Amino acid sequence: MDDVIVVGAGPTGLITALGLARSGVRVRVIEAEPHIINSPRAAVYHWSVLDDIEKLGILDEAESSGFRKQDYTYHVLRTGERIPYSLEILEGHARHPYNLHLGQHQLAEIALRALRSLPNTSVDFNARVVQLDQGDDGVTVVSDGATGEQAFQANWVVGADGAGSTVRALAGLTFDGMTWPERFVATNVFFDFERYGFARTTQLIDGRHGAIIAKLNNDGLWRCTYMEEATLPEETFLERLPEAFAAIIPGKNEYRIDRAAPYRMHQRSAPRYRTGRVVLVGDAAHATNPTGGLGLTSGLFDSFALYPALASVVHGRRQEDLLDRYSESRRSIFLERVSPQASANKQLIYHANGGGERLEEALQGIRRLSTDAEYRLQRLMYTKTLATPPL
Ligand SMILES: Cc1cc2nc3c(=O)[nH]c(=O)nc-3n(C[C@H](O)[C@H](O)[C@H](O)COP(=O)(O)OP(=O)(O)OC[C@H]3O[C@@H](n4cnc5c(N)ncnc54)[C@H](O)[C@@H]3O)c2cc1C
Repeated sequence: MDDVIVVGAGPTGLITALGLARSGVRVRVIEAEPHIINSPRAAVYHWSVLDDIEKLGILDEAESSGFRKQDYTYHVLRTGERIPYSLEILEGHARHPYNLHLGQHQLAEIALRALRSLPNTSVDFNARVVQLDQGDDGVTVVSDGATGEQAFQANWVVGADGAGSTVRALAGLTFDGMTWPERFVATNVFFDFERYGFARTTQLIDGRHGAIIAKLNNDGLWRCTYMEEATLPEETFLERLPEAFAAIIPGKNEYRIDRAAPYRMHQRSAPRYRTGRVVLVGDAAHATNPTGGLGLTSGLFDSFALYPALASVVHGRRQEDLLDRYSESRRSIFLERVSPQASANKQLIYHANGGGERLEEALQGIRRLSTDAEYRLQRLMYTKTLATPPL
């Protein structure tokens, strides 16, 4: 019997499992797919998560697979105004005064390798969890895979199986909130954006053609995420892509799409992140639209809060109610800080704040970000407030 089963080998599942294993917990990860999913999703890690990634012993490898970045630009498409700002101001205030660019599947691969090097760990791919039963002494999880059904037992289960979480549903928890009427299209694209004056993260503000453009690696690969109405047929999104790109990079059609994926976006949360012996992390607990890169950021802060708490419960050093405190803290941070900010970010970038005076008001704040160092420092500290202090 394992101490903990983690369902889902996405970044939050593997980071949680790694933290547990490093704390001497016997942990098994069960993943439905044959390998780590590498669809184009999170690529930017805010400076505020890097201390904890370092504590897990994987920051050096993550940094050598990705790159550090301090420069940002807001670009107002209609007027051509560019408002740059830098994270340099964090120097002397943060141990890691930069953001890290790295595909989330790469972070997951690094965490997986570190996990596999530790004793008392196992990772089962090709095993989809289909059943979960809680008893007084533990939880039984049944997976379905290439070799048929298999049952596993553990004292605790961590549901890290993403926004469509089976664990959440099997634990009887709802996923309350709303789904946006638009879809995002995330593309990985080869194009020399820097040659045309784009910063390595450019937030293109426009009521019709808003986009987030970020450099992914030094081989010329970039992420460009734009939005379209969800009423348009999803299966033909690629046919509409050239029109979207023509608005974002006018007259320059020498790009090459590496991969592209459409996504529905939500602002949703489970009513609690612990029920009995089941605890939720990451998108299984809460989902947000990705504008501003707060989705995985808040998922990672879940993991950093959960693994020490769960390890001390497993080792009998703390009572189980510590996990309720985990749940309360993470849920209120999501509902009160993450979700409203991500919605405001979407409103600005993709809906240009409704235009007119409301846009001008937002732009005044952004211009101040560029010119007023103290204000910039205060704004950059926001992502640190998404962390849960030690429980
Ligand atoms: C276009 C886009 C861009 C984004 N950009 C950013 C960004 O820049 N910064 C940021 O912070 N966030 C970003 N996000 C959000 C981020 O991708 C998610 O928050 C992140 O993937 C959540 O990680 P997770 O490990 O919780 O879940 P997931 O990554 O969804 O992983 C869940 C895993 O569970 C597995 N699974 C599912 N069901 C089962 C089952 N029944 N049994 C076993 N395994 C199962 C899945 O196969 C998967 O491997 C973005 C999202 C999108 C869509």
